[in-house]
Amino acid sequence: MTTTESTDVLIVGSGFGGAIAAYHLAAGGAKVTVLERGPWLKAADFDHDFLLGSSYTRIFDFVVGDGMSLLGGNCVGGGSVVYFAAMPRAPRFVFDRVSATGQRIWPESISRDVLEPWYDRVAEALPITQQDWNDVTFAGGLFAAACAHAGRTANPVPAAVDRTKCTNCNWMMSGCRFDAKRSLLLNYLPAALAHGAEIRPLHEVQKLTRTEGGYRVHYKVVDDVDYRVYAGEGEIDAKIVVLAAGAGATPVILQRSEPELGPMPRAVGRYFSGNGERLNTAVVDEDRARELLGLKRGDGPAFRANQIGKGPVVASWDTLDASRPTHSRYSLEQLYFPPGFGTILAQVPDATGPSWFGKEKKELVRQWQSWLTVFTMVEDDNEGVFGPPPPTGNAVRISQQMLGRGPIRYEPSANTLRGWAESDAAVRDILERDGLARVMPWTNDVVGAYTVHPLASCRIGDDPQTSALDDGQELRGHPGIFVTDGSAVPAALTVNPALTISALAERAVPGIVKAARDRGVNVSYGAPAPGGETAGRRGVQAQLPGLTGL
Ligand SMILES: Cc1cc2nc3c(=O)[nH]c(=O)nc-3n(C[C@H](O)[C@H](O)[C@H](O)COP(=O)(O)OP(=O)(O)OC[C@H]3O[C@@H](n4cnc5c(N)ncnc54)[C@H](O)[C@@H]3O)c2cc1C
Ligand code: SF4
Repeated sequence: MTTTESTDVLIVGSGFGGAIAAYHLAAGGAKVTVLERGPWLKAADFDHDFLLGSSYTRIFDFVVGDGMSLLGGNCVGGGSVVYFAAMPRAPRFVFDRVSATGQRIWPESISRDVLEPWYDRVAEALPITQQDWNDVTFAGGLFAAACAHAGRTANPVPAAVDRTKCTNCNWMMSGCRFDAKRSLLLNYLPAALAHGAEIRPLHEVQKLTRTEGGYRVHYKVVDDVDYRVYAGEGEIDAKIVVLAAGAGATPVILQRSEPELGPMPRAVGRYFSGNGERLNTAVVDEDRARELLGLKRGDGPAFRANQIGKGPVVASWDTLDASRPTHSRYSLEQLYFPPGFGTILAQVPDATGPSWFGKEKKELVRQWQSWLTVFTMVEDDNEGVFGPPPPTGNAVRISQQMLGRGPIRYEPSANTLRGWAESDAAVRDILERDGLARVMPWTNDVVGAYTVHPLASCRIGDDPQTSALDDGQELRGHPGIFVTDGSAVPAALTVNPALTISALAERAVPGIVKAARDRGVNVSYGAPAPGGETAGRRGVQAQLPGLTGL
């Protein structure tokens, strides 16, 4: 017989949305339990290796859908452990975007100005700092110089990286061995633990049901080595549930819960956005780089190694201009993707045979030292829809780690395709100018479009028809269930989303505290940053009465 435990607040997932809620609620005095599907690794466990069973395959999740593949974290700390830590704020126009029917997409109550102090809170907590040109890697410098050569601008991006500790090892996606990347393992999560929160790794939540005073959360225990195998199951009652399993998993849990929980808002599992992502690989002509830009990699072994550099260091934001039409606003970021995914999807410029495999591809791979990868984030049209949920989890697991087949369907609209075509043309304009490089986008023929930034599958908004959550991130029709992960972000951001997801989660916390208090939990709001800093807390004071009703 399964015994039922109980807690005040049950949090599903330990990425940005989960960790932020866990810290504040635990610090405020609530009993907090976090269930996380993936394992719990720390710095010394992060391998510089791609072998099956290394940290790379244990903490990474790759779900192939129909027309869209999702990449994300699968571990305590979620995406923060595998991410590149580029942390820009979303441009102002993003919050004012209207849908094709002229309806405002974001809630009326949330603008860039409103979010600003919440951005500040997260920036203080992680912390985030502005990189300068001294932090820029050769590849980033090459991209910046190419932008200047093409009459465009480029800038170092703000990042959650301790630049004094970073060794430029380029193993960002396997977890940072040097604790230089400011993942949630270094701030919100240890602070939540210090305040008594319990984090249970390898616990995959399947569904919620209703109880007298709240909700029952049903989970299965995942085997540490073969994630297809379940080693047990259980259930926990909670007065408040915070769903933060990521935009690829949160709607699936809710869909599976619907028969027992009651009808879900129409927007659960719809309006998914891949943040309009696209990648281009350029093969740089090293002689032209020297002649045109005065840049030379040098012949030493350093530049024959994969592992030199770090995630995105430089971005071009010239087209993040409110006066441009929707879908024509995008950022371009120099990026490094390790061998594997990128090597397979890169296409041969001017191929006469197949573009992503075959003899010509073999030749392209031989030139990998000269590759420069550019990441594009455009505005898409929230085209993604989730089909019926798989029997367990958010995907049918195909391999023992990392790979699954998920229910998402995504057919890019003409607008999205146009946005990609425009940004591809911009990348070519920068990098092919005067024969500097040859450029091709990654193919969408193998795994469809792809995203490391899943968003909007359970989104906030003012219209109950097109949004699953109200502007306090509470699930419509199911009081006491909140969603604080990327699925709440209503549309593409044109920049990397983790900071916006986090700022929204920070903003949602006072309302969650109020809901918990209304259900008899002795909890208060007002903890400082996890490291004890207080400027961020002061900054949000003015907004608290509106969020807590006090
Ligand atoms: C390679 C890569 C690079 C990236 N680089 C950047 C970057 O530079 N800047 C940026 O802003 N963003 C970046 N991102 C994106 C960023 O990581 C995500 O946007 C962010 O982590 C999303 O936060 P979240 O709270 O929505 O969910 P996540 O951080 O994805 O956390 C969700 C957690 O829930 C867990 N989970 C899922 N299902 C269940 C379940 N059923 N039960 C229990 N737990 C569950 C998952 O294992 C995961 O740990 C990158 C992502 C990847 C993959
Ligand atoms: S490049 Fe820097 S931040 Fe990234 S994993 Fe290596 S040491 Fe950590």
